[in-house]
Amino acid sequence: MTMFDLQDRVAFITGGNGGIGLGMAKGLASAGAAVVIAGRNKVKAHSALSELQSLGAQAEFVELDVLKEASCQQAIQHTVERFGRLDILVNNAGTSVRGQPEDLTAQDWHLVMNTNLTSAFLCSQAAYPYMVRAGAGKIINIGSMMSVFASSYATPYAASKGGIVQMARAMAVAWAKDNIQVNTILPGWVDTDLTRKAREQVPGLHEKVLARTPAQRWGKPDDFAGIAVFLAAPASDFITGATIAVDGGYSVQA
Ligand code: NDP
Repeated sequence: MTMFDLQDRVAFITGGNGGIGLGMAKGLASAGAAVVIAGRNKVKAHSALSELQSLGAQAEFVELDVLKEASCQQAIQHTVERFGRLDILVNNAGTSVRGQPEDLTAQDWHLVMNTNLTSAFLCSQAAYPYMVRAGAGKIINIGSMMSVFASSYATPYAASKGGIVQMARAMAVAWAKDNIQVNTILPGWVDTDLTRKAREQVPGLHEKVLARTPAQRWGKPDDFAGIAVFLAAPASDFITGATIAVDGGYSVQA
């Protein structure tokens, strides 16, 4: 096996049916992994599967609602029954409810925290025994620039994305003995369904992102293919608990 070879590896990607999740799934598939994309929307999944299969990948969609613990367990169990193992978990499913903190409801808070943070905890827990059985594992979490910075309209989102970094660090410490590496990617602003909605809701966001991003463009889902392969492959076996910005320079701009 070479440093970036994922032949015989099996990856499970929450929200892999679109956006950044699909960009990462395509990267993992190109490096030889079998990929299971998990989510709710079957229409998106159908077109994502066609894209993955056109790369020659073994790919499958499994229905998943990350808000339900049983669904997380069942989807991961199904993956292992279907492909015999689980090597790579990508905790990518995410959402946001935008509004000033004084206007948000407890329901808004729980939806965002449960989708973005609790789901990553539950899926990691469900994956852990299979990774232990395989003698190795890679868990890749998706944070955000709001793991570090904040905006007035994104209190629960920023809390969930700050939390996922610390959750990953704690799991990295706990599971290093099992040869499981746990890292977090911090995307900059990427053109996806999520941010298309943000651009509609937050006046001037598009211009602000372009002005602040040294690369002078929005990210594309395919920009996440390479980092996914790196963090899933033997090349990163001594990297754990790290946060890696993939942001066109956004986080280093003064
Ligand atoms: P998308 O809206 O395209 O992707 C979000 C994915 O999450 C969807 O595929 C969706 O699947 C899945 N999802 C949401 N809720 C659930 C649920 N309850 N159960 C299962 N799946 C669910 O947006 P992005 O690709 O932009 O977002 C992917 C990740 O990247 C998120 O964690 C987001 O916070 C993060 N991120 C995005 C940035 C950006 O600029 N786009 C910047 C920083 C971080 P389905 O449609 O089937 O429900």
